[in-house]
Amino acid sequence: MKKKDYPLDKIRNIGFIAHIDAGKTTVTERILFYTGIVHQLGEVHEGTATMDWMDQEKERGITITSAAITCFWKDHRINIIDTPGHVDFTVEVERSLRVLDGAVVIFCGVAGVEPQSETVWHQADQYHIPRLAFVNKLDRVGADFDYTVQTIKSKLQPNSYPLQLPIYKEDNFIGVIDLVSEKTYIYGEEELGLKYQVENLKESEKISQDMKEKAEILRMTLIEKLSDYDEKVLQKFLGEETITPAEIMSAIRKATLSCDFIPILCGSALKNKALQMLIDAVVNYLPSPKDIPSIAAKKPNSDKIVKISVEETKFFSALAFKTPIDSYVGKLTYLRAYSGKINKGDHVLNVNTGKKERITRILHMHSNKHVNVDSISAGEISAVVGLDNTSSGDSITDKNHPVLLETIKFAEPVMSIAIEPKTKKDENDLETILPRLLEEDPTYYLIEDKDTGQTIISGMGELHLEILINRLHRDFKIEVNVGKPRVNFKETIVDKVNSQGILQRNVGGHGQFAQVNLKVEHYKVDSESTGQKILLENNASEEEVPKQFLPAVKAGIKESAAAGLLTGNEVQDLKVTIVGGAFSEVDSSDVAFKIASSIAFVNAIKKAKSVLLEPIMKITITSPDTYLGKVINDLNSRRGKVIKVKEKESIKIIDGSVPLRETFGYSTNLRSVSQGRASYSMEFYRYEQVAENISKQIIEKLRGYY
Ligand code: GDP
Ligand code: MG
Repeated sequence: MKKKDYPLDKIRNIGFIAHIDAGKTTVTERILFYTGIVHQLGEVHEGTATMDWMDQEKERGITITSAAITCFWKDHRINIIDTPGHVDFTVEVERSLRVLDGAVVIFCGVAGVEPQSETVWHQADQYHIPRLAFVNKLDRVGADFDYTVQTIKSKLQPNSYPLQLPIYKEDNFIGVIDLVSEKTYIYGEEELGLKYQVENLKESEKISQDMKEKAEILRMTLIEKLSDYDEKVLQKFLGEETITPAEIMSAIRKATLSCDFIPILCGSALKNKALQMLIDAVVNYLPSPKDIPSIAAKKPNSDKIVKISVEETKFFSALAFKTPIDSYVGKLTYLRAYSGKINKGDHVLNVNTGKKERITRILHMHSNKHVNVDSISAGEISAVVGLDNTSSGDSITDKNHPVLLETIKFAEPVMSIAIEPKTKKDENDLETILPRLLEEDPTYYLIEDKDTGQTIISGMGELHLEILINRLHRDFKIEVNVGKPRVNFKETIVDKVNSQGILQRNVGGHGQFAQVNLKVEHYKVDSESTGQKILLENNASEEEVPKQFLPAVKAGIKESAAAGLLTGNEVQDLKVTIVGGAFSEVDSSDVAFKIASSIAFVNAIKKAKSVLLEPIMKITITSPDTYLGKVINDLNSRRGKVIKVKEKESIKIIDGSVPLRETFGYSTNLRSVSQGRASYSMEFYRYEQVAENISKQIIEKLRGYY
């Protein structure tokens, strides 16, 4: 099929990001519905629309899980990149943020800003992604648009301004006032939300005088703010001249693209209200690939930064961001192209592996089918077939012009589970399937326990691991016995020690000699920005440890730290200084220095006072007033801490922290102490030292485990 060409400025690569349950899936489905319907309006007979809707919905249930779905709206092509809402899948969020150009952040109009929304918001800040906010669920009892706007302003971005106001009729949410055009959009009884009535706000008899005044005030505040971003608006504002809707829209676009201003829209996905205006806003205010600044890349084996601008005429460069296995097509690789163009059948270079691969097919995933296309060019997102040796995060480029694009950061696995195949057949199947599944999601880690021969898988949380086990079971019919999930501890020391490691060996006539002296102390490393967990410094002189052996010395330390000593868990948060050593012209080698430094490091850890670190989660619990006492008691009994209790009418919102290890079975327990009325959400916060008495118990248990 020949694809219709969309110029770059008519393309939007966007994602919906949200706290779980805010309505991401529902909003996405509705958008696919409205864009699909418009696309095929001529073919849909009156009266059969409902049927289509249900059939499509069924199909969407599958396609919605694909990494990027393409849809069309008012001459624009919109690629919707899937971002999961659950904290266990942070890597997926990182991955999508890396490749999308703009995002819609969805909030629940009852709960306001929730913890995971804060996390993804800050992630999006890091990647400089222009956003708009959509306050969903305004049909619900207790929905409060003004409150939600306040929480967005106070917790996320003070420069957030509503572009709409909700309209209620006897407590029913029926539509929105558009502050930009000063029009009202009111939906009637028709359930699919395809029809709505448009009126001029000022003339409308359905809107109260109070509401009209409120709208007028908000509109003026919006325009005043926009004059910071747009010269024309500023002049007209100061001269008290009329500013046209088109001028306001152009200023909103500028402000939004600056990443320093958030337009807020509202609606109800479930009740099919105000979604069309949201899609309009995506097209009007979110960036096209042309609007994003050029991205930084490196030439292989060099630190030289090159800038890549999104242009079709340059050499091809793209980032692979997801590699799912499709049951019909086989291994798919999703590519975000940054520059150039390639055609089906072309050879490309995987810069990370150094291997050439051939692209045999290029696909667009529409809401209900795959569409074959001939090429992929700058700014686009497509799935390709044929890149069998490519993983997520790899750079794919023109075969003669390699560049490494900034890769994707992966989070720390905090929980593990042991699995054991039931039969010989299961064992064989597991051996072929597991590596494929692990490749799809690089935040699963496979550990082979050397002593027991057990297969241990590490991941982001209980649910993350559960999903992997379910897939083995359901998709591949592999039966496994599953151990209890356990959290991943770390170790550190709390004091400062000096140590020495000497290797002196004579094998035949030839000897091995090296000596390394270390100072090892507790030190909180900023691992987020450095990617390191141990800070290594060298104070030894050339006469003690020659420079050529330094890499070997460092490798010896890193390897022993990874193996752990107290419980077999990784040692981190240390500063290790090489303070001295000795070598021999004849007998010293890399291997000798590596062994000597590893001996010195182990000696230091043995001498020092070691402690366990455990993963701590940030938790937010929402509970009716009446159960507050019970909920807090329960949290305390899990070594949890209450940081703040906020109040919203008769609902209490508790912000706190709790060790991951104490959260097993928490949801059942919370339900039972609150008669099902309280809910919670959780995400990884940081590693913290375990209290000594508890540490002892855990170490004993772990020693039994290892
Ligand atoms: P996600 O976790 O963000 O993908 O949220 P879902 O789209 O799965 O929605 C979570 C729940 O909220 C589902 O039961 C939806 O039916 C419901 N929901 C979504 N949007 C709305 C809405 O606008 N109003 C109401 N009342 N419920 C909604
Ligand atoms: Mg969902």
